[in-house]
Amino acid sequence: MRTTTTKTTIPHGRRVRFRRRVVVVVVVVKNASSQSEAEAAKAAENASKAAGVDRTLNPRVRDLNESKTVALTDLARTLKERGEDVIGLAAGEPDFDTPEVCAKAGIRAIETGMTKYSPNPGTLPLREAICEKLKRENGVEYAPSEIVISNGAKQSVTQAVLTCCGPGDEVIVPAPYWVSYPEMVTLSGAEKVILRTDIKSNFLITPEQLEKAITPKSRMLILCSPSNPSGAVYSRETLEKICEIVTKHPRLLVLWDEIYEHIIYAPNEHVSAASFPNMWERTIVVNGFSKSFAMTGWRLGYSAAPEYFSKAFNMLQSQLTSGPSSIAQEAALAGYVELGDKGGAPVEVMRKKFQERRDYVMERLRKIDGVAIETPGGAFYAFPDVTKLCGGDKGGFVEGFGPVKGSDEMCRYLLQEARVALVPGSAFGVDECIRISYAASDETLEKALDRITEALDPKKFKRSGSW
Ligand code: PMP
Repeated sequence: MRTTTTKTTIPHGRRVRFRRRVVVVVVVVKNASSQSEAEAAKAAENASKAAGVDRTLNPRVRDLNESKTVALTDLARTLKERGEDVIGLAAGEPDFDTPEVCAKAGIRAIETGMTKYSPNPGTLPLREAICEKLKRENGVEYAPSEIVISNGAKQSVTQAVLTCCGPGDEVIVPAPYWVSYPEMVTLSGAEKVILRTDIKSNFLITPEQLEKAITPKSRMLILCSPSNPSGAVYSRETLEKICEIVTKHPRLLVLWDEIYEHIIYAPNEHVSAASFPNMWERTIVVNGFSKSFAMTGWRLGYSAAPEYFSKAFNMLQSQLTSGPSSIAQEAALAGYVELGDKGGAPVEVMRKKFQERRDYVMERLRKIDGVAIETPGGAFYAFPDVTKLCGGDKGGFVEGFGPVKGSDEMCRYLLQEARVALVPGSAFGVDECIRISYAASDETLEKALDRITEALDPKKFKRSGSW
């Protein structure tokens, strides 16, 4: 059974000194929860056996992996709720409040009774505002009938993948990838084709790499810029070349996830894949309000695509969830209409702050011996390569903890020793790296980096190949 707490299990045969309280609690949390979960599972199994229930699951669901980012965020929260001094830098959400204009519009919506079912693809005023935004900011034109607003960009991505891809198709997913892309491909029954990138290519695919990966079965290429988890941004030139290749293959579509578009740092600029020649027809744009407008809990995202696809997304949504929250849509509408271009002042305040924090985190990480990092051009994540610390056959070594091999063990070590929750690169298909979210206050980041620096001090943490 996979549980959140399993991930904190201390490897067998390790000599562990329980010097810090958190370690004890992690173990206690695991023991307590796994005991009760095991008992509950056993009772359920007995009951279903007695009732003669066939508990077979659809293999496409059974084969899905739990999201490590969600699991680690939940674990950090649980530990904090138990009074532990754990710093959570695993979450993919801004630490800012939703802009006041949006929050007030949401409250107004409740007070004025805008609490009924929304039209299935979303309200017309918000779809019109999205069209206006896409034209103004991204140079791409859509009609309101080509917009489907959903309960978060995650739902929009899922609907696009399920609608367009199926058994016999291949979906090209560059790694590092956002954790959900490969799982959605699995759910659709299509095959995922992972294109590995690394720090040398700044975690971006090259046009040549893409060309080699395309086969007659290729149905979709999923691109995310700025990227979660690397923060890398596709330049206009590279994207143009990629799009040129895509247009040579009539079956190939692009899912263009631009949810971090407003969190971008000069000289990087956000360019829409749909804006290149012949790309509009084959691009599904996905965006939302979670990141730019700090509205993760409001659950609102959207897709923009030609009507032949949007109609099908709309139909699928009508059978899955119906229209998104009426209240959240009123809040988002205020964001697009009242705050103006790129979310106006409130979004610019967040963006600037993220940029300051990015610079601070870069400065601190570069001082740690063996950590390699490219400066991210957007989003709010640092994705350092820690190969020199814990890569190779043996990995690193810490007296009292044992070998630290690969990103999972590195994150487990940092949770135990530094009491900082991060996400292993393995979750994103790149085991050489770890993801640090800098969506946290300056003080929190300083404290976290002090602790990480101390935990990775060469006197304590023996580098890979040096022991
Ligand atoms: N795409 C990417 C790249 C993301 O990082 C996320 C959220 N972590 C989403 C989509 C989904 O966002 P939402 O909250 O709108 O579902």
